[in-house]
Amino acid sequence: MNTPKAGLLEPQSRVQVDLSAFGQNVRTLKSLTPTGTRFCAVVKANAYGHGGIQCAKTALENGSHFLAVVRISEAVAMRDAGITAPILLLGDALPEQVSFLATHGIRASVADIQTARALSAAAQALNTTLKIHIKLDTGMGRLGFLHPDVVIKESGQAAGIGQAREIAGLKGMEVEGTYTHFAKADMIDKTHVKGQLARFNDMVAMLADMGIHPEIRHAANSAALLELPEAHFDMVRPGIAMYGMAPSGEVDITGHKLVPIMSITAKVIYVKAVPKDFSISYGSTHVTAAPTVIATVPIGYADGYSRLLSNQGQMLIKGQKAPIVGRVTMDFTMIDVGHIPGIKPGDDVTILGTQANERITADDIAGLTGTINYEVTAGLTGRMPVSYV
Ligand SMILES: *Cc1c(COP(=O)(O)O)cnc(C)c1O
Repeated sequence: MNTPKAGLLEPQSRVQVDLSAFGQNVRTLKSLTPTGTRFCAVVKANAYGHGGIQCAKTALENGSHFLAVVRISEAVAMRDAGITAPILLLGDALPEQVSFLATHGIRASVADIQTARALSAAAQALNTTLKIHIKLDTGMGRLGFLHPDVVIKESGQAAGIGQAREIAGLKGMEVEGTYTHFAKADMIDKTHVKGQLARFNDMVAMLADMGIHPEIRHAANSAALLELPEAHFDMVRPGIAMYGMAPSGEVDITGHKLVPIMSITAKVIYVKAVPKDFSISYGSTHVTAAPTVIATVPIGYADGYSRLLSNQGQMLIKGQKAPIVGRVTMDFTMIDVGHIPGIKPGDDVTILGTQANERITADDIAGLTGTINYEVTAGLTGRMPVSYV
């Protein structure tokens, strides 16, 4: 039997991640914090679609002390890959998973007393000590103990910080850290985030009154790392900026030399000249206004390339922009290349990234699809192979 040459079976659309640029971004961000401030690389969701293990290793090689993920499976994958650095689980620790956390040295976030008790019991049963980080909800409205100002005392489900008092007496666990997460650090108006900061400082003092003195206080996501030095505390926790993207349109990262690290490329697989009044793709939503040439590119919504780009996105080919015509389908997207002579199957297409003097950013795609850059990369489905440079 003939074995095809290596490369012949490779899919025609692929993702490239520039790990040296990623490492540089990590060092750049680290340089914005005072010496001694720990750095926790947020590599959740497969490092926002860039490859969890590779980014985790690169972050550690470039001075990151901690890693943060959200799902236990991601933490386990990192341990299986030989990563021994501290890993903080930002969410999803259920009591029945506790023994597993303890044996794998995964730091749990604790946002309610029931989980704390279960962690403590499991840790004692295993004769081990589990490190935990107490999570405080200072205005994100997601996970965390609440400030006394907002606790509804009558409710059986209240999660006031008063409950944390019991943690000080729980055996088998060590409170290594406490943290909060900002809801609006990426906005020009810093009123809300400053309120969160004040509540955080308040609650850290309340923990101290209960005899809980976490060594690592942390709060800053990328936006706060970049714009709010008073939120750096003992550790910063950036995600998006490490991947070279801005936390929002209201945070200007241009001065910081952060570079996007992902590009998506494909090869044209089919080209044909079509007449005027020729309709393209499902629903015939595009009809040619004049004779032109249509190229088919093998990327679609099953790759995470949004169908909302139908009739409005662009791709780069021969250093020029070519508009998407008709609907993006599951596997293919059509572009009009009538204005670019000589397009043939095999020609390189850039879907995200730079070609000659043209560029398409995750923000460009997000702008067209009504979302944010985070979702553009984190929303890739994993069908396209990722290569690292
Ligand atoms: C995702 C996340 C971060 C990182 O946020 P960026 O905006 O990507 O920097 C930090 N902390 C927590 C708790 C998160 O969930």
